[in-house]
Amino acid sequence: MGENIKISIIERYQHQSLFQSALIEFLGSVIPYLESIGAGEEDYARLERLMVPERMIVFKVVWEDDKGKFHHNLGYRVQFNSALGPYKGGLRFDPSVNEDVLKFLGFEQIFKNALTGLPLGGGKGGSDFDPKGKSDAEVRRFCTSFMTELVRYIGPNTDVPAGDIGVGGREIGYLYGAYKKLMNRTDGTLTGKGVVYSGSQIRTEATGYGAVYFIKEMLTQAQRDIRGMRAVISGSGNVATHVAEKLIQEGAIPLSLSDREGYIYNENGLTQELIDAVKIHKEKRGSLKDLLVGNDVTYHEGAVWQTLKADIYIPAATQQEIKKEDAEAIVRNGAVLVAEGSNMPSTAEAVEVFQVAGVLFGPAKAVNAGGVAVSGLEMSQNAMHLHWATEEVDEKLRFIMKHIHDTCVHYGKHEGGIDYVKGANVGGFVHVFKAMGQLGW
Ligand code: NDP
Repeated sequence: MGENIKISIIERYQHQSLFQSALIEFLGSVIPYLESIGAGEEDYARLERLMVPERMIVFKVVWEDDKGKFHHNLGYRVQFNSALGPYKGGLRFDPSVNEDVLKFLGFEQIFKNALTGLPLGGGKGGSDFDPKGKSDAEVRRFCTSFMTELVRYIGPNTDVPAGDIGVGGREIGYLYGAYKKLMNRTDGTLTGKGVVYSGSQIRTEATGYGAVYFIKEMLTQAQRDIRGMRAVISGSGNVATHVAEKLIQEGAIPLSLSDREGYIYNENGLTQELIDAVKIHKEKRGSLKDLLVGNDVTYHEGAVWQTLKADIYIPAATQQEIKKEDAEAIVRNGAVLVAEGSNMPSTAEAVEVFQVAGVLFGPAKAVNAGGVAVSGLEMSQNAMHLHWATEEVDEKLRFIMKHIHDTCVHYGKHEGGIDYVKGANVGGFVHVFKAMGQLGW
């Protein structure tokens, strides 16, 4: 039965290659699990239903530039699964956004959210709008127009969007500002809000910090120490900069950050001062090549994977950034661990290379779940009209990342070690699957 499902997925989603890859990767873990528990026809039918979004919304967003000229983009929200709670997942503003990208992200989000142990469903959304090169006023007008459409489909107990690529603090502020005006309500819908207007402490840092907490757990499990480990990181946005920052705090050595054009590198390790400069530079949508570096920091064109040697590799930019040949280079360079900060950054062939070589491999669903975990905590604080201190949120984040790690170990343990891909897929799946059964879905 399982094989037939795989074949039908391959045929059905030939034109949505990212969504197809996400489904095939997931089925690679879940079908053997269902076989091991003697699942029947009804179970496989429920599995098939789980792979279809509950609702997909597409809308037109018309906005006006600074010269008074009108433009339009497409806006999307994929409400994938609400068995465990309100749909929850980020909004991405990038020219590459389409139905395929958002279905793959929304599907992965279901299990990531389930792994946190919080009552959250899974969804994703965004637009093919490019915030790069736009003025603040243009971004604000776009966000207001986007929210004018999205507002009717979201709410604190229905669907709670957050940020993602191209949607940072500025965009969340404008989106929530528009939501509040349109609804005449302050109910916390949207997470990643500014701390001054009911956001949570640590939400900005959460994905990057959480990834490092998870990496620490993986290394402890393998009886290794994070201190002194050298790490190559891709990306220079929210996730990447906070991974680098937390690595320094934990005694490890971040070596690089990258963007679409190139990367900065210091063989002695990037400093907190430089990371802060990157954050400010990227907030202004600058390119790394224009960042004034010095003190052993060099700028190079291209990607980080083939040339830089390290113990740990952390992709934190975008999907499918590590191909088979990159993975082979990473293995040749002596990697101990690869942890996915971005969503589905490794191709299926690359993951196989890591697993065959015995490199510790942490999949995105588990590694980058810290962001949505603190988003869940932000929802709780908003619902209770409370504001928790930084230490309290950070402590809860550490606890959740440990809980996710323990779940991966429970479902992924085998004679040779831990299969974190299987552990994360099955660990997330069991809750959602059980809930769907009890809800009669
Ligand atoms: P940001 O927009 O803050 O940063 C994205 C970074 O990735 C930038 O440095 C950008 O370069 C680079 N990048 C984007 N697209 C490409 C590309 N096609 N090729 C090379 N580099 C690229 O995004 P986030 O840091 O928030 O997100 C990064 C990843 O982490 C995404 O996969 C996202 O889905 C995932 N994620 C994010 C979470 C969050 O809380 N923010 C939570 C969980 C996962 P440039 O500056 O040139 O644009």
